[in-house]
Amino acid sequence: MLLCDIIFPQNLSYLTYIVPEELKERIRPGQIVQAPIRGRIKSGVVFRIHSDVAEGMGSLRSIDDIILDKPLFSEKLLSLINWAADYYSTNHGLVLKATPFKDFIRKRRKGQLHLPSGTDKPLSIPEADRGHVKRVLATRRYRTFLYKAADREYEVGFTCLLLERISSAVVLVPEIRDAEAVYSALSGMLERDVAIYHSGLKGSEKAEVLHGIHEGRYGIVVGTRSAVFAPLHSPSMIIVLREHSSAYKQEESPRINVRDAAVMRGYLENIPVVLASVTPSSESYLNAIRKKYTMIGSAEGIRRPEVIIVSHKETRDKRPLSRDTARRLRNLSHNEQVLAIIHRTGYSLLVCQECDSMVECERCGKPLVVYRKGQESYMQCHGCGQKYPLFSECPHCGGYRLGFFGAGIERIEEELKKIVARKVVRVEVPETRPDQDTGEKPLILGTYNTRRLDVRDISLIAFLNPDASLNRFEVKAVERFVQDLFYFRDFLGDNGRFLIQTSIPWHRVYRYVKGWDYDGFILDELKRRRQHDLYPYTRSVRIEISSNSIITHDRVDRVMDSAVKSLPLDYQYDEKGNLKGFSLLLRDRDSRSLKDRLSRLLKLCRKEGLKARIDIDPVFL
Ligand SMILES: [Zn+2]
Ligand SMILES: [Zn+2]
Repeated sequence: MLLCDIIFPQNLSYLTYIVPEELKERIRPGQIVQAPIRGRIKSGVVFRIHSDVAEGMGSLRSIDDIILDKPLFSEKLLSLINWAADYYSTNHGLVLKATPFKDFIRKRRKGQLHLPSGTDKPLSIPEADRGHVKRVLATRRYRTFLYKAADREYEVGFTCLLLERISSAVVLVPEIRDAEAVYSALSGMLERDVAIYHSGLKGSEKAEVLHGIHEGRYGIVVGTRSAVFAPLHSPSMIIVLREHSSAYKQEESPRINVRDAAVMRGYLENIPVVLASVTPSSESYLNAIRKKYTMIGSAEGIRRPEVIIVSHKETRDKRPLSRDTARRLRNLSHNEQVLAIIHRTGYSLLVCQECDSMVECERCGKPLVVYRKGQESYMQCHGCGQKYPLFSECPHCGGYRLGFFGAGIERIEEELKKIVARKVVRVEVPETRPDQDTGEKPLILGTYNTRRLDVRDISLIAFLNPDASLNRFEVKAVERFVQDLFYFRDFLGDNGRFLIQTSIPWHRVYRYVKGWDYDGFILDELKRRRQHDLYPYTRSVRIEISSNSIITHDRVDRVMDSAVKSLPLDYQYDEKGNLKGFSLLLRDRDSRSLKDRLSRLLKLCRKEGLKARIDIDPVFL
C-alpha cells in the first residue's frame, strides 16, 4: 500500500494518508493535495511518500486529489521545514504556517502589480570589496560569508554586484521598506525580473508573485521573513541584509529566526550564503572567529564623524539638558538640520523631596510616569498600564513636596522650546514628515523610531540620556545600543556630528563609539559574555508556562524538578492574586543537553496539564 504524510497549515504534526491507485503515478513530495481532516477537505503539502504502516495508525483515509502537479516545495525546502520543526521543538504544521504556503493557495489577482519604481542612483562599493565579490562568486558550494560593510550603502551595492552574475537567488531584508529599497536598486540595475514578497502586499498580490516564482518567471526574490521559504527550485545564493536585525525573529510561534533558517537553507541547497551588515551580530561574529563563517569586507570608505560626549547626571533639581548640550543646540544655524532623540515617553517620574522615594505603582511597584496632555495630567505604570491621577502627596510619608525626576519626551520638548529659537517638531508616528517648506529647518525630536524617517544630511544628532538602554537587564542591550548608533550615522551630512548626553560618560561603549571601532567593541563584548557564560557562548530557551486553572506552588515545584535545573524568572497573577503562569529560561553550553532538559520540562508540563510556549534562541532575554 502506498502512503503519504501530509502537512496541513495547522497546529499539528504531519498525518498519514493512503495514496489511491489512480494517483500513484502522479504523486510527488512537495505537491499540494487535498485530503479530509476533521470532517472537511483541506489543502496540505506532501511531505513524504512511503509504505511503512506504523502501529496505532488506526484506519487510514485516502487523499482526495492532487491540485498542483509541479511541487511547490523542493525536497530541500521540505528538509528545511523538517529542520525547523525539530530545531524549534514544534510541529510541522506550525512551520508550514510560517512559509508562504497559505499565501500561495489564496485567490490570485492577475494583472499589474504595484511595485516600487527602479532607481538609477549609481551604487558604489570600495575597490577592495570587488575582490570579495569575485571570491563569493567563485564559491559553488555551501559556505557562509559574513560581509562586514563599512557603510550601509555598500550592503546593497555588494548585493547588486553579486546578482549581476547569478540567475537565481533569495535576498532577505528585515523590514518592508528595505525590501522596497533593495528592489528599486536591483530592478534599476538588472534587466531580469525580480520578485518582491512581503507582508505589506495584498493577499491576491502575494499569490500572484508566488505563482510567478513557482512557474519560474522570476529568478530573484527579495523579501522579508517568510521569503526564506520562497519556492525557488534551485537558487544559487542566499543573501541576508542587516543580518543583525532582531526583526528576523518571527513574532508568532514557532518563532523561527529567519537569518538562521537562511544559513540552513544554504547548507541544504549546498550554495553560498552571504550575511551582510555594518554591525554584525555577536553570534555571527563568534561564528567567524570560530571559522564557521568567512569574514569578508574592507574598512575602506568608513565614515568617522565626530562624537561629543556630554556628562549630565539626572538629579531631582536639575534641568533635563546640561548647559553644554543647550549651548550646542542653540549655536546651530537655522538651516542646519537637527535631530534630538530621547527614548522615553511621558513627562518625567515623580520623587518625594522629603523622604526621597519614587512614586510607584501600587500593583507592581514600578515607578509611575507623569503624562501632561494639555491642562490634564495623569500618571501611568509602564509595567501593568494602570492609570492614576497626579499624586499631590507622597504615598510613603504623606509629604507634599513632590518633584519631577528625569525627563521623557514631553519634558524635553518643553525644555527645547525654551532653549532654541526655532520650531520644535515632535515626531512620534514614524511616517510623519515635518513640513520643510519654509527655509527654516525645525528641530526634530523623536524616539529611536525616528530611524524610519527619511531625514538625511543632519548636522547634529543629540542622544539625550540613552543610559537606560545600556542598563537594561538583557544580554544584547549594549550590543543593540551600539548597532542603533551606527545606524543613525547614515543620517548625518558630511560634517555632521553626534552629541551624547549621558550620566555615565565613562561607560566602555563610548570609547569605541568615539572611534567608530565596532570590531573593538564586539571583541570586548564577546570577552565579557564568555567570562559570564552568556549568549552566544551558551544557548537558551525561554518557556512561558500557563494554565486555565490556578497553579499551586506544589505544581510549580513538580515541574521544576532537578533534571530541569532552572528557576522561574517571573510569575503572572490574576486580579485575585492567584498564580496563572510563570516563565523560565534554560541556558546551556551544550545544545544536546539543553534539548534534553527542555523535553524533560515539556513532559512534566503535560503531566501537570500546563500549557508551555517555547522560544528557542530568544532575541530578548
Ligand atoms: Zn515621601
Ligand atoms: Zn503597575
